[in-house]
Amino acid sequence: MNIEIPNGALFIIDRLESLGYRADIVGGCVRDALLGRVANDFDITTSASPDEVLGAFSDCRVIETGIKHGTVTVLVEGEPYEVTTYRIDGEYADSRHPDSVTFTTRIEDDLARRDFTVNAMAYSPKHGITDVFGGRSDLERRVIRAVGDAEVRFTEDALRIIRAVRFSAVLGFSVEEKTASAARALAPRLDGVSRERIYTEWYKLLSGDGAFDVIREFSDIIRVFLPELSGELPSRESFVGACAEERQLALFAVSCGDLAAESFLSAMQRLKTDRRTRERGVAALENYKTPVTSLSDAQRLAFKIGADSARLAVKLGVMLGFSGRHALSVLDEAVSGEHPYRISDLRVGGDELSALGLRGREIGETLSELLECVIDGKIDNEKNALLAYLQNHLEK
Ligand code: ATP
Ligand code: MG
Repeated sequence: MNIEIPNGALFIIDRLESLGYRADIVGGCVRDALLGRVANDFDITTSASPDEVLGAFSDCRVIETGIKHGTVTVLVEGEPYEVTTYRIDGEYADSRHPDSVTFTTRIEDDLARRDFTVNAMAYSPKHGITDVFGGRSDLERRVIRAVGDAEVRFTEDALRIIRAVRFSAVLGFSVEEKTASAARALAPRLDGVSRERIYTEWYKLLSGDGAFDVIREFSDIIRVFLPELSGELPSRESFVGACAEERQLALFAVSCGDLAAESFLSAMQRLKTDRRTRERGVAALENYKTPVTSLSDAQRLAFKIGADSARLAVKLGVMLGFSGRHALSVLDEAVSGEHPYRISDLRVGGDELSALGLRGREIGETLSELLECVIDGKIDNEKNALLAYLQNHLEK
């Protein structure tokens, strides 16, 4: 069995091997290669100690950020590769990070610390596939199974619970029975795990082809970190062709009903997502029920919440049956640049308004009013027409 390895990773493996160490690609990239999927990144595991790795690549750019845990990032032609010394993880006092790591020279020990059998394989051109825990047969049977005793492994690090569900959704695998029951039983421990790390896994889960079924099957686990999602689920069809962000909003919309925007906001604050994600989501949840049928509906919505959030609102409206499919092309047309939907699209601006004697807040309010009139077709977006309307208006 030959796996195609990028040149940078091959260069690192060859260099370490030529110095008498062993080096293999490991984890997700081996799994993905065997599945014929495109790997995210190629991680390398080696018998060389971190100092020996630094020595071996003294002529390359290296980043030492993870060195305490044995990881040195080596840049080959600008591409970063994480090179990690075989290690055994120590006790997990906080069920998050090992308190200490011990370096070892046995690859089996390094594979044993990994979460699932399908993630615990290594490969190098010289050694072929190293598969100590039956990862290949689990890949063939399409199951996610913990390496070793699932209860012990989830107790050590509760993030693995959500990772199990994430891999199930992304790969379309089932979660092996003992692994699944340990995951359910220990799910309350997710409370002790970094919220950002949970959100990263949850977001990957949402993007998976199997997301809908997995969310339904493991709703009890998901509710530990998203108790807001205890209501109904949207339809399975609504997930088809939707991205992670849209799927998440659909879940909140249907599960939380009228409280969707508030519930989403408090959940996203708790999970420490960025402000932009929160604001877009809230705007979409507050507006998705307004049907978009005409160009002016779309212009009005884009003016109110911005083109980006409007797209999300319309997408959500289509997913949940509040707008027809054509609403998306209507919105695209509205924000194509051909039609005004921003104050800056008006053919008059603040300068003309100050010349007419308007001041401060009046200017902004008047411009908004003008834009609404233009969108409603009451005035043409022409300088003279706009000024004439203003003059008329101000005289009254
Ligand atoms: P992705 O395609 O999303 O990158 P991945 O399998 O590469 O998936 P990573 O989070 O990048 O996942 O982790 C790389 C590897 O490190 C995993 O394949 C697994 O072997 C190991 N690993 C990662 N996180 C854990 C964990 N919490 N416990 C044990 N092993 C882990
Ligand atoms: Mg990875």
